[in-house]
Amino acid sequence: MSLSRYSRQSSLREIGVEGQKKLSASKVAVVGLGALGSVSAELLARAGIGHLKLIDRDFLELNNLQRQVMYDEEDLKLNLPKAVAALAKLKKINSEISIQAEVADLNGSTIEELLGDAHLIIDGTDNFETRFLINDFSLFKKIPWVYGGAVGVEGMTYVVLPGERPCLRCVFREMPRPEEVQTCDLMGILAPVSHIVASLQVMEAMKFLAGKKEAVDKKLRTINLWTRESRGISVEDLRNNPCEGCAKQDYPYLRTQQGTKAVSLCGRNAVQIVNYSHDKLDFKQLFEKLHGVMKVEYNQYLLKCEWGDFEMTVFPNGRAIIKGTEDLGQAKSIYAKYVGA
Ligand SMILES: [Zn+2]
Repeated sequence: MSLSRYSRQSSLREIGVEGQKKLSASKVAVVGLGALGSVSAELLARAGIGHLKLIDRDFLELNNLQRQVMYDEEDLKLNLPKAVAALAKLKKINSEISIQAEVADLNGSTIEELLGDAHLIIDGTDNFETRFLINDFSLFKKIPWVYGGAVGVEGMTYVVLPGERPCLRCVFREMPRPEEVQTCDLMGILAPVSHIVASLQVMEAMKFLAGKKEAVDKKLRTINLWTRESRGISVEDLRNNPCEGCAKQDYPYLRTQQGTKAVSLCGRNAVQIVNYSHDKLDFKQLFEKLHGVMKVEYNQYLLKCEWGDFEMTVFPNGRAIIKGTEDLGQAKSIYAKYVGA
């Protein structure tokens, strides 16, 4: 580790040379590389976090460039998955750390492999299904995680230190239903909001990783950048009324899923299909099959095809995102017809 690279932060009393060494020995996983995760990942790489794992299941779209400063038009032209584009950028920013990219869906079957060795997890996701999964895993493995949410002009953060303070399930109790949750896709988002929320998340992560756990924010933090109001909500009292995960070590969100699963991607008029039984797909073969029937192109990371009002992106492990429908049944039948059940 070259200390001079980090001199502006290791010279701080709050971090110090010892703190910097701890950051260099840390393993952090960033789940989701969109508005929040791409900013977090860059700050962590520049700060010299020694081992970064970048996890994202999606590919780049033009509307990402308004806020996701990691990416550019060239990445978009190359049809790159976010994790792959982010890896290339971060390697140029800091070649002294180890960075790993995973184009993968985080779920009950993949979470151990993807997050099992992390010292801390950063939430860059956009949905509560994944957050509740991360929360259960965090309690089960005693790995801290930093929740972050940003939509419209508002954001929220909270640090979960398992066993030491209330977890996200203690705070929210039930997983909010999709129709109750405001999303960026429906509501829009301003870039300064996601940048501030990601910065708050990384700040708390750095305190913890540098060995300054006592400085980590204990409150649920909310901020509205339009009205400039911010609040810190104490959740200490929830320790008297813990969730089932904290009280009884019950982790329902971790139970492994099997078979094909279809999930509507809220607000995007798209459905994701995950097929847990697929072997690695042969894109060349799939290209031959679909070529002639529709417009198809592929690279080593994904195969993209378009016909009528539909667009389907398929990843090597058989996962697919089908645009043009929110009907799970229709999406499953499209998948079965063109990719194979
Ligand atoms: Zn809890």
